[in-house]
Amino acid sequence: MKIGKRTLIVTLLLTIFLVNMAAPASAYSYSGYKWNANYVVPKIDSSVPSSWTTAIKAGATAWNNAGAAFTFKWITSAADNRIYCTSAGDTYLGLAVPTHGGGYNIGYKTYFNTDYPWSTASGGESGKYDVQSVATHEFGHWLTLWDLYDSIDSEKTMYQWTASNEIKKRTLHSDDIAGIKHIYP
Ligand SMILES: [Zn+2]
Repeated sequence: MKIGKRTLIVTLLLTIFLVNMAAPASAYSYSGYKWNANYVVPKIDSSVPSSWTTAIKAGATAWNNAGAAFTFKWITSAADNRIYCTSAGDTYLGLAVPTHGGGYNIGYKTYFNTDYPWSTASGGESGKYDVQSVATHEFGHWLTLWDLYDSIDSEKTMYQWTASNEIKKRTLHSDDIAGIKHIYP
């Protein structure tokens, strides 16, 4: 397995639906879909180590605290919006996969690739990828902010690339916040 200096956090998306909210520059990118509700109920699959729970929930909390009219609710539900761990080889680090119906999000799944080394250390860990940082990014997709590609966006949670021992995506950039407030005012 090869681990690059910069590792892609991939989103499966239909580019035809991509809407760039580009004023000014590429402040954020919105897929054009949203939930037909002001909350979503995620579940952490049994494939995810229980030691990751706090870090993953902290990723959702960052968005809950952004001041938008949307909340990740950790309640028991029949909904199947789930976070998994899986072995995916030298492909992606984290993956968010939406399901759409009736013009809305109707489901989301996120996968952490266990072929990369992960850490839940509070200050990050050399040579390992930060669960909370990647979870925050992936939950941004659930919202449904899209990846940002330009180097000018490198300090934002929704920047497409990450690196080992990088924890800055845990903290939302003002443009990440502007994005969720635009979608869920
Ligand atoms: Zn992404």
